[in-house]
Amino acid sequence: MSDPYENTPERTFAALPPAHGRGFAQSWWGQAWLKALEDATLDSQQLKTGRRLARAGAVGAVSVRPGRVTAVVKDRDRTAHRADVLLQELSEEQWDRFLGMAVERAGHIAALLDREMPPHLVEDAATAGVELLPGLGDLEAECDCDAWDHCGHTAALCYQVARLLDQDPFALLLLRGRGERELLDELQLRSVPRTETAEVRQETYEGVDAAEAYAAGEILPPLPEPPAVPAEPGLPPSLDTETEPAPGVDPAALEFLAAQAACEAHRLLVDALRTGHEQRAAEVGLTPAQDAVRLASGGPEVRVAARLAEGSGRDREALALAARSWEYGGAAGLDIHEADVVVEAETLARARAALESAWEEGERPVLRASRNHWTVVGGQTQLRLGPDGRWWPYRKERGRWAPVGPASQDPATALALADGRE
Ligand SMILES: [Zn+2]
Repeated sequence: MSDPYENTPERTFAALPPAHGRGFAQSWWGQAWLKALEDATLDSQQLKTGRRLARAGAVGAVSVRPGRVTAVVKDRDRTAHRADVLLQELSEEQWDRFLGMAVERAGHIAALLDREMPPHLVEDAATAGVELLPGLGDLEAECDCDAWDHCGHTAALCYQVARLLDQDPFALLLLRGRGERELLDELQLRSVPRTETAEVRQETYEGVDAAEAYAAGEILPPLPEPPAVPAEPGLPPSLDTETEPAPGVDPAALEFLAAQAACEAHRLLVDALRTGHEQRAAEVGLTPAQDAVRLASGGPEVRVAARLAEGSGRDREALALAARSWEYGGAAGLDIHEADVVVEAETLARARAALESAWEEGERPVLRASRNHWTVVGGQTQLRLGPDGRWWPYRKERGRWAPVGPASQDPATALALADGRE
């Protein structure tokens, strides 16, 4: 795919909708742009007309080229005028100094890529003898209404450009003579080690030479600090709209998935910042059946839960119980709940000793063992032993064994939980 800006450094910004009652520049550089207009314009009536026209949406698409912005501006009576605002391009030598400065200050370019223009960038450029922002009287006007200075049309164009600059400060650099792509390419070339000749570069330019790609990293800033962890996962947008969904698309299920993804992202971020991410590595390669349980533990609405149950080959109640096991112990908890867990002989021996010593004589419940399950004889509770030697509390609910809490090192604690005594 060819880049539309590659050869013709010109960009066209679509007409903006009317902006009643709003200021034109939120950014400091947009305001600096307007100051250059307002301080130099003697006729305040023209500025007023310009603001009115710009607010009313009278400025058409804005074309930005080196040295010039152009738009058609319509009067209240719908008469169209071609308005141009001219700003002097930087000379080759000034661009050279600007690029030399920018390649040393990777943060500036990163900020621009974020559509921000840091004050330091402008200051550093000024130190290098390059004025990026227009000063008093630098914005020249040309309009086919034959005004000798700024008219309402060119003023309206300036106000509109201030709004565009807010969104994309690269538009100012284009006006000064360099398109975004061109600028980034030049920066990249400058950051390539000097030993590499232009000839070599030419040969390796199809596809990207590894050394070159690596060197380009020098114009990018280091990774930012991790974000502050929000207290809650974000809420995805509501998909409950007037529009009928496409066949086969279930908006409620999608909303649930998006909310779950946000929860999972939040949990991963919290974990990563607290412990490094190795802790959850075991949960990375979940099977579809495990993942259905993980999703079900997020409390989906009834219809979504039914789909998860069906899709994972469980009935609704079995899925609800599996989801509880997930809440208490993640994949390990689910294994204890549904899988045949193998416990090594040594762990089993230690577990039996733990059962012996966990209760005072006379208080010890009578337990019947089967594999890694110990069931209270004549009762409704059970302990399940995990491969790591921890005990999981279970209680019989409506004829099924249900997990009732997280695992414990101590069988008496686990059984008290199963009894509902803790
Ligand atoms: Zn005019």
